[in-house]
Amino acid sequence: MYDVIIIGSGPAGLTAAIYTTRANLKTLVIAGSKWGGQLMLTTLVENYPGFPEGIQGPDLMMAIRKQAEHHGPEIVDVDFKEGELSKWPFKILADGKTFEGKSVIIATGADTKWLDVPGEKEKIGRGVSSCAPCDAPFFKDKNTIVVGGGDSAMEEALVLAKFATSVTMVHRRDEFRASKIMQDRARQNPKMKFILNTEIIEIFGKDKVEGVKLKNNKTNETSEMPIDGVFVAIGHLPNTGVFSAKGGSASGRKGIDLDEQGFVIVHNHTKTNIEGVFVAGDVHDSHYKQAVTAAGFGCMAALEAERWLSNQ
Ligand code: NAP
Repeated sequence: MYDVIIIGSGPAGLTAAIYTTRANLKTLVIAGSKWGGQLMLTTLVENYPGFPEGIQGPDLMMAIRKQAEHHGPEIVDVDFKEGELSKWPFKILADGKTFEGKSVIIATGADTKWLDVPGEKEKIGRGVSSCAPCDAPFFKDKNTIVVGGGDSAMEEALVLAKFATSVTMVHRRDEFRASKIMQDRARQNPKMKFILNTEIIEIFGKDKVEGVKLKNNKTNETSEMPIDGVFVAIGHLPNTGVFSAKGGSASGRKGIDLDEQGFVIVHNHTKTNIEGVFVAGDVHDSHYKQAVTAAGFGCMAALEAERWLSNQ
């Protein structure tokens, strides 16, 4: 029986583990087969405090994990499958085993949102990507598109521009929502081009990406553009499907309350609708979505779990 079971191993989950283990709580982290969360897919992180020159995302996660391990949680690199949260103690199913916990912290983060247009899904890894730091070197001397108008899109574009011949940003509105500093950096790069008020409605090509069909939102005109790569950077979807009550209510299963976008609804800082189940990080935070805020939420959830346990 664990005092706390933490599901997720990004900055939120591992920070929570640092706090719970230092509070002498027997802690299990279900880290996932691909542990570490989104920072494992990034390059330089310049805005996490404590690293004056910045730090590579994977290096930061390895350091956070090492720090967590130092305090002695059990960490299993397996995927979470299901949670039985209607009865206490809670039962968490992962890798064919059932783990019992007195409290749970959900820190499962969020995943890439895709465009969901014809030709996209089957070309992921064949010219369609969501991770410039991972795939940009494959696009050396190629022409590429980045879709999106936020900071992620700007960041992806700037990484790609180090390799690609050209990077065209395709955005559905006439203004970007990215921060001014990121927009300025992108605009100053001679490899960057911008197409506004436009959406990609199809990605075509035989075995790999050869071009896209574009639609201008103002004029409804469509056009085709030959291209070698499409990087999708339009936000993220929270990893919460397994926590909803959908399909489970008939069996009396209690789900975690989610908002219409699927993010966990938070009550009183880090509490969910189920007593003893807490939440931390991008899985509930659609607003800040920063590594440092996720870490902060991890700390908060751990402190709340500790308080809740001591009152039981
Ligand atoms: P975001 O700010 O939500 O931006 C998503 C962008 O994708 C928006 O421009 C949106 O268009 C567009 N979009 C969404 N769905 C679309 C669709 N189906 N088709 C076409 N376009 C679509 O997401 P983000 O860029 O991932 O950033 C998330 C948070 O992380 C932000 O707070 C951001 O500041 C932060 N962040 C910070 C850094 C950094 O500081 N270095 C780096 C990355 C992210 P609309 O604008 O029309 O809605």
